[in-house]
Amino acid sequence: MAASAKPTKSDIARAAHLRDTLNQHNERYFTHDSPDVSDAEYDELKRELIALEAKHPSLIALDSPTAQIGATTLTTFDPVTHRAPMTSLDNAMDIDELRAWGERAAKGLNNAQPMQLICELKIDGLAMSIRYENGILVQAATRGDGKVGEDVTENIKTISVIPKQLTAPKGSSIPQVLEVRGEVYMPINAFQQFKADKERENEQRIKQGKKPEAVPANPRNAGAGSLRQKDPSVTKSRNLAFFAYQLGETQGMPALTSHHDTLNYLKQLGFPINPERKLVDTFQQAEAFCANAEANRHNLDYGIDGAVVKLDDLAQREQLGFTSRAPRWAIAVKFAPEERNTILNDIQVSIGRTGRATPFAVLQPVVVAGSTVGMATLHNREQVQLKDVRPGDTVVVRKAGDVIPEVVGPVLDKRPKNSKPWKFPDTCPCDLKSTLVQIEGESDTRCVEPSCPFQRDQRIIHFASRGGMDIEGLGEKTVFALSDLQLIQDVGDLYSLTQEQLLQIEGLGELSATNLLQALEKSKSKPLPKLLTALGIKHLGPAASESLAKTFGNLDNIVTATEEQLSTIDGVGPSIAQSIINWCNQKQNKAIITKLKKAGVDFGNVQVSQLAQTLLGKAIVVTGSVEGFTREEAEAAIKDRGGKSPGSVSAKTYCVVVGSDPGASKVTKANELKIPIIDAAKFRQLLDSGTI
Ligand code: NAD
Repeated sequence: MAASAKPTKSDIARAAHLRDTLNQHNERYFTHDSPDVSDAEYDELKRELIALEAKHPSLIALDSPTAQIGATTLTTFDPVTHRAPMTSLDNAMDIDELRAWGERAAKGLNNAQPMQLICELKIDGLAMSIRYENGILVQAATRGDGKVGEDVTENIKTISVIPKQLTAPKGSSIPQVLEVRGEVYMPINAFQQFKADKERENEQRIKQGKKPEAVPANPRNAGAGSLRQKDPSVTKSRNLAFFAYQLGETQGMPALTSHHDTLNYLKQLGFPINPERKLVDTFQQAEAFCANAEANRHNLDYGIDGAVVKLDDLAQREQLGFTSRAPRWAIAVKFAPEERNTILNDIQVSIGRTGRATPFAVLQPVVVAGSTVGMATLHNREQVQLKDVRPGDTVVVRKAGDVIPEVVGPVLDKRPKNSKPWKFPDTCPCDLKSTLVQIEGESDTRCVEPSCPFQRDQRIIHFASRGGMDIEGLGEKTVFALSDLQLIQDVGDLYSLTQEQLLQIEGLGELSATNLLQALEKSKSKPLPKLLTALGIKHLGPAASESLAKTFGNLDNIVTATEEQLSTIDGVGPSIAQSIINWCNQKQNKAIITKLKKAGVDFGNVQVSQLAQTLLGKAIVVTGSVEGFTREEAEAAIKDRGGKSPGSVSAKTYCVVVGSDPGASKVTKANELKIPIIDAAKFRQLLDSGTI
């Protein structure tokens, strides 16, 4: 970008505004561990200021946040002046910027020497400097503004993976002074535990009529907040961890010439070093490391927000040196942001096919992890209460990889003054406005009106979906259109639709109508388990549908079966059986069955076991290899006789068949629960007689 000396008035005002805003964000983030914008938004503002300053160098102020590190510290902790400054890192937002950094570094080394690069993960935690004198941990300090940090020695001593005393590696002595730098972080597991505990506390608070407390949005904020506690026992309870990646001041050190040697040395001294690091010779390899790190970031037990590419050779580093805030010999390659803040415009409720009322957030659309998010589920009534999100709130939206977007929580400091907690609606949003009920013992709120048009539409969408009858061309939009035109009341009506009727749908052409009719025709021959799943009977999923089909052979047998007969089937059990009976007893469902039959939908002709159902209702566990049977054959033999063959022993187990090399835990459990244990010969008798 060409630098021009004369900024406009609006450039000057914008630069001042950006400086103020960034300084405020720095203080919230670094000093109070409680940011109110996402990192991505912060980074955008900072890059805008960097670009303005590059274009108009006269705008560069001495105290510009582009030249600063972190923020000033709290008076809660004593100040510590760093003997060697703690720097930040320059950022590359993409691979082109990484390459540009490489070119600058090569130029700085006069393009004369080959550069070896070491690639590491960028741990999303809190930078720490830990000082050892004659092998004893004497002080630990946060980065602060790079020159002065906070004394958190007692808190750091509570982190079990950090050595309190060093032992010299064989053949060498302990340096008189060793400052180890690295990142304190909260492992994902510990964060989830912490969050679950906080949410439980909040549930109690809500029950007592108190306001829920804010839950940190991510492990970084939770980790930083946990470390900067006045009471070290609180820090201890948060299970923090540490990775070392750098040295600060040292005295009496062995001579080291490379970064990878430094890391190996730190490892020998007992410091945790991140294993995910790679020494490479080319930028292509560094790029591959970064891409791989981003693709696998969710397979780790700690948060990372990028990769760091560094020169390995310490002499080359010396030659390149530092800018005012970062080394020239390293660059952080940032990943696509997974968290953004946006406005929660509204909370609405959708009604599912079983009547479940699910609240969802209507958001001001925002791009997160590469896709635009405008809506996100809020799961159920309790979740909204617990998170205490309200229309008008600024909320943190997170989308990690392929995971569906989630509203993490509100940014309380940005809450509008007269905001009130959101109230779950009392009635269904459809025209019938029937009362929504929360059934005792269930976390869900439901519309229980069988003729609710929203439920009906969702049932039809489910019927046509991939997991059901897989009717191509019958998606949400077409179902809503057919329903609006009052051409269908239930799934039974689908098969009597005509070309003429389909053409009434706005925007649906002749070809699409023909294709849809063909797809409907094709779906008539779907196998029975698919048809069963497609009917959308509460609790009845694909596995239980398979079992039912296998035992009863066709739909007519299933709809006429008794609750007792149904509940003995492997994978069915009393609640599914009850649900099937309820479904079959409803008038409108009887009509659906009649319509489907009339339309020629295949009701199934599954091969039914001809064997006597000697084991009906019995659960028999098989462990080890039983003579004369493979594992599958033994299980099939039980199921073919109406029994179940679960994978674990419980009080409900009828007996355990033990072959050679059995699982020790199953046998121990059987003995504990006094469940009979039988061998292969007895098993054969059992199959014939049904008793032991
Ligand atoms: P940074 O997070 O971009 O990178 C520098 C830091 O990375 C180092 O100081 C070190 O602590 C850490 N790091 C992790 N792994 C490392 C490794 N393997 N090798 C070397 N260093 C490693 O810079 P920063 O100055 O700490 O923070 C700036 C960033 O913090 C911003 O880009 C933004 O993402 C975030 N921030 C957010 C807000 C907000 O309001 N949301 C405000 C301020 C800063």
